[in-house]
Amino acid sequence: MAARDIFAADFAEAPYWWEAAPPSPAAPPSLPERVDVAIVGAGYCGLSAALELRRHGASALALEAARIGDAASSLNGGMVAGSLKLGHAELSRAFGAERATALLEEGTRCLPFLEDLLEREGIACHYRRSGRFVGAHCAAAYADLASRVEAIAKLTGAGAWSVPRARQREEIDTGLYHGGIVVEASGGLHPALYHRGLADAARRAGALVAEETAVEAIGGTPGAFTLRTSRGEVRAREVVVATNGYTGPLTPWLRRRLIPLGSFIIATEPLPSEVTRRLVRRARMIVDTNRVLSYYRLSPDGTRILYGGRASFRHVSAREAAPRLHAMMTAVWPELAGTRVTHAWTGNVAFTFDHVPHMGVHEGVHFAVGCQGSGVAMATYLGQQIALKIADRAAAPCAFDGLPFPTRPTYTGHPWFLPVVGSYYRLRDWLERRRAA
Ligand SMILES: Cc1cc2nc3c(=O)[nH]c(=O)nc-3n(C[C@H](O)[C@H](O)[C@H](O)COP(=O)(O)OP(=O)(O)OC[C@H]3O[C@@H](n4cnc5c(N)ncnc54)[C@H](O)[C@@H]3O)c2cc1C
Repeated sequence: MAARDIFAADFAEAPYWWEAAPPSPAAPPSLPERVDVAIVGAGYCGLSAALELRRHGASALALEAARIGDAASSLNGGMVAGSLKLGHAELSRAFGAERATALLEEGTRCLPFLEDLLEREGIACHYRRSGRFVGAHCAAAYADLASRVEAIAKLTGAGAWSVPRARQREEIDTGLYHGGIVVEASGGLHPALYHRGLADAARRAGALVAEETAVEAIGGTPGAFTLRTSRGEVRAREVVVATNGYTGPLTPWLRRRLIPLGSFIIATEPLPSEVTRRLVRRARMIVDTNRVLSYYRLSPDGTRILYGGRASFRHVSAREAAPRLHAMMTAVWPELAGTRVTHAWTGNVAFTFDHVPHMGVHEGVHFAVGCQGSGVAMATYLGQQIALKIADRAAAPCAFDGLPFPTRPTYTGHPWFLPVVGSYYRLRDWLERRRAA
């Protein structure tokens, strides 16, 4: 099928998630003169911080430049990770063995924390602890995955096992991978319903959520900050920056430490349920081990494939990226070559130079950023942790707090090198796949 023919007649360059939860027309509240804590960004992190602050009696105002629904927290794949991507060896090299253990242990707390939050706040967002299948793009990647399952099972306290290539079709109906692993401590949800539910919970608890209110400048010091916004000034005792992949000139120090990157997703037209049930047999979330990875899943109603990945390292539209994602999907399932795309969309994730999320304080301003494209549970958790710290209610310091936060000389937050690095990674993936074939 020619690239232009992949689009369904009713194709929309918009998130599939907006069918159930479109951005609500913003009617921002009038800004208070003064609050205890002003939060920049109302994604999962900012809203979670606002909610937790209210639970400890502090007044909280989340200031959001866009609408609830426009940024990553409503656009993502809805795949909920149960642990960090890096293992103990990699983390130890960077942070020492003790901190590596603390980071891994804390990383596993995000999933149960999110599950408790959904339950406590009654957020209906199709959450299911589905487990995850990780497909190996070559035999060496399978050996590496298989060597990790015991540690993952021990760390998460849930099942993790390897699935050799000969039994792979019990999980996913493809011959593409060289086997894989199943990790039970992982789930899936509808990200936009979750985001909206979290905003409602924060408002119910008494937080103010001011959409379409961009913060343009932060002045002052702890105890006496002044924020200039597109809708007037606010004074705050403390400030939290939770802008992740949308971090801009407001916070140049943070911007120099974050690598924003577009991630893209397509949704297929509805498929017969006997097809989707065969393609993804247990309706788990799926990722692969390519450096330029794919992540995909069934829609919560089980009718569509939602296929995501780093389709481009350049600034391209979701429509332009869709043919590449379609080709990646048909490499997994050639039978979907004639299946059309109804939605395509994109949003920003944020990577860090040391590949771990960071929370901390710079010049008196709190921040939590850098979720490495895996922030549904992590960003929510870090928001809560920052709130506990500000409210002086943390039982112990968060392991992600106060790590050295590296940048690179001359880097200003514009990752000009991404197209080069992306092409190099793609080439290495291809070479490894070819050798393994
Ligand atoms: C396409 C895509 C797929 C993804 N898939 C997954 C997945 O399957 N699983 C997973 O765990 N993670 C996934 N992620 C990552 C996940 O969505 C993010 O890690 C998470 O949403 C980060 O939440 P956050 O609150 O830190 O930041 P965001 O949700 O990015 O929110 C930051 C907010 O800050 C606002 N902002 C920025 N500057 C200002 C300012 N000056 N004033 C006011 N507001 C400002 C922005 O408008 C934005 O709303 C994906 C991301 C994308 C884009």
